[in-house]
Amino acid sequence: MKPLQQLTRPNIWSLAPYSSARSEYSGRIANVFLDANENPYNAPYNRYPDPLQHEVKAILSNIKGVPEECIFLGNGSDEAIDLVYRCFCEPGKDNVVAICPTYGMYEVCADINNVEYRNVMLDERYQIDADRLLAACDDNTKVIWLCSPNNPTGNNLDREEVVKVVTQFQGLVVVDEAYIDFSNETSIARQLYKYPNLIVLQTMSKAWGSAAIRLGMAFASKEIIDLYNKVKYPYNINELTQKQALQRLSDTHAVEQWVKILLLERDRMMLAFSELRICQQVYPSDANFFLAKVDDAQQTYDYLVDRGIIVRNRTRVKLCQNCLRITIGTKDENNELLGALRSI
Ligand SMILES: *Cc1c(COP(=O)(O)O)cnc(C)c1O
Repeated sequence: MKPLQQLTRPNIWSLAPYSSARSEYSGRIANVFLDANENPYNAPYNRYPDPLQHEVKAILSNIKGVPEECIFLGNGSDEAIDLVYRCFCEPGKDNVVAICPTYGMYEVCADINNVEYRNVMLDERYQIDADRLLAACDDNTKVIWLCSPNNPTGNNLDREEVVKVVTQFQGLVVVDEAYIDFSNETSIARQLYKYPNLIVLQTMSKAWGSAAIRLGMAFASKEIIDLYNKVKYPYNINELTQKQALQRLSDTHAVEQWVKILLLERDRMMLAFSELRICQQVYPSDANFFLAKVDDAQQTYDYLVDRGIIVRNRTRVKLCQNCLRITIGTKDENNELLGALRSI
């Protein structure tokens, strides 16, 4: 890996961050807070939240096996994705390399930040080839984007190839693990200490059932997390979100049950799809959704919309022609989808 300073935008490296009232006061016992121009009335909503979300990170540290100082919390993974560009990629000069197809936000954020985005196609099994990714890089490539299990394809990327990319690339590698709780693969976040150039993204939006509260996580070296913390909005995670996250994270049993049910339903749905007349192929999945190739994705999509059932039409995505992406719902929801498709 190149030195982190060389990978960081010079203005960010030398940035003097905003120092909030709550971060200047560092934690001894106090009960009179006249430092932040807050209103003393309307508790508990009158106070600014903890800017570094200490309590939430302490629980996450336990669950994920990652030290607290190696955790960043964002307003969804979206914030953690955008910060990669804002911290490391000089607009109009640097570039990033990504697998294709994958999650659309990496490219949207590149466009917003005026950073060149280079696609490297997955193979016909939707797998990566480390050498082809590395060959797409040049001196100005700051980041390689990986997503495992990948969206919209649903499969884990080969761990050996992922490790090869991480160990051979001189810049930063992001591995988005939004769906890791549905996968048999262990999180690569457990190996963070070995890889100083690795950033792992996870989220509360999927297995944890909390898309509404907007809480995404980045796990990386303390040096990278310190940069993130310098650039983020001072109070980026609001108090309601922090409270709800604490509650959700304190009941891991519920999440395990949800995952178990969803995986059983996924396997049932994939089998049922493979027997549909209109279905040409069901792709393997390590997530809470699967990709199915049908005769005419647009036609099937429109037919389902007419019946009030919305799936994701991915037919215009590269390597996904005539593919629908099906999220696993409740048993009743899944049966409604199957019933509609069986009566085509
Ligand atoms: C759903 C999803 C996310 C989640 O984004 P949030 O902003 O945390 O809700 C991140 N990455 C991928 C690949 C996803 O599919």
